[in-house]
Amino acid sequence: LRLTEGRRLKLDSRKIETGDVFIALKGTRYDGNDFVEDALNRGASLVVTSRNLSGDRVFTVAEPLQLLFCSARMVIRNSKMRHKIGITGSNGKTTTKELLHSTLSKIAPTFKTPGNLNTEIGIPISILENRDALLEAEYGAFELAADKKGDIRKLVELVEPDISILTNVGTAHLGKYNSPQELLEEKLSIFSALNNEGVAITNGDDLRIVKELKNASFRLLLFGEKNGQLVLANYRYIGNNTFVTLNFNNEERLLRLKNFWNKGQILDLMAVYLTLYSIGVDVPELLLVDSQLSFKDRFHVYDLAGIRVINDCYNSSIESVMVAIDALKRLRTGKKYAVVGSILEQGLFAKKTHLKLAELLKEFDAVVLYTRDRQIGYVTEALEVSFATDSIESIADWLLKHVEEGDLVYFKASRGVGLENVLKAFKEKIAKDG
Ligand code: ADP
Repeated sequence: LRLTEGRRLKLDSRKIETGDVFIALKGTRYDGNDFVEDALNRGASLVVTSRNLSGDRVFTVAEPLQLLFCSARMVIRNSKMRHKIGITGSNGKTTTKELLHSTLSKIAPTFKTPGNLNTEIGIPISILENRDALLEAEYGAFELAADKKGDIRKLVELVEPDISILTNVGTAHLGKYNSPQELLEEKLSIFSALNNEGVAITNGDDLRIVKELKNASFRLLLFGEKNGQLVLANYRYIGNNTFVTLNFNNEERLLRLKNFWNKGQILDLMAVYLTLYSIGVDVPELLLVDSQLSFKDRFHVYDLAGIRVINDCYNSSIESVMVAIDALKRLRTGKKYAVVGSILEQGLFAKKTHLKLAELLKEFDAVVLYTRDRQIGYVTEALEVSFATDSIESIADWLLKHVEEGDLVYFKASRGVGLENVLKAFKEKIAKDG
């Protein structure tokens, strides 16, 4: 079944436009099969459902998700890619994928999984919808993430990467797992499809990972701050540039990068460096020199009427706060303010995580909490904060009153918190204030 043929696949019948294909999946709250009629009325060219319905635009199959998977696998198997690179980790997946894509594209046509479509459902859809690009590509960068236990292994079976990158294993989404060990095992399954010729690229400073991989039959390439073929010796900011000193097999390599990169983003770039090396690029830094971060609320450092703002609203975790704070120490600024919201998806670990966050926030001169959700409240058990409210306007007013030219304001919270709205309100007030 050539499901796509240039068509969009939609899971939400309300989003159907004429010609789209509707895939009826069962979710936790809704059953897509209930919306087949709606999809047809909206002009779907085909509906894939598990219900026994008649109609020339209806295709009945026991498990529509399975069909997506099998069709996507056929596309992958038909591709002639020289290398398929699978990427997972607690932090830095998207950054690594984007950096890989922009760099490899300089050598040959390269496919990447789009946006944040990185799950059991998103990956097959993005493969099917972008079949032509995928079939033409020589390299592919696949961002693979888990919604639940076992997802990564399934995605790895689908993509069959020959190079696999595990950026790090931190505490993001810990709430979805019974223990940190279970989360580690999930992440390690990114390496489960590698054969003898496969390459595993990961952080050498995480001894739990290294221990698990050291007897593996595939090639292991490590980056880190202490251990590995590629070591981050130092980084510093001069003007609007980041100067990075690397040690590659004990030889010094220098990189000058545009804008402000934090340590996590530099480590992601180092994973890309090792990928290039593993595919035979002699001097990876020549290809990496004009690497650009695609910010989209991810550690974006910029000036706002003389105030230095760091927009890190895209997501949050203890590890990504740590790399941001390491960066702050290297930036010359006046007072340092943090506007912070919850780290979500921590389950039973919520209190522990926020107490740890409180410790880290001690680096700031003043901390403001955006209390739209409860978890961030734990911070006050270990840290005296300057202001806490769920009112966007009040935070913007508070900042306007306290922050002066030359100061820095760091905005950080999980995606679901919507902290970018606070930043937006602050910007608007500054603009009005003239
Ligand atoms: P993901 O796709 O895994 O959610 P992103 O690439 O979108 O990760 O980056 C999200 C956040 O994580 C940003 O705040 C970024 O600064 C931080 N980050 C990126 N790479 C790392 C890393 N290797 N270690 C810690 N933090 C990182």
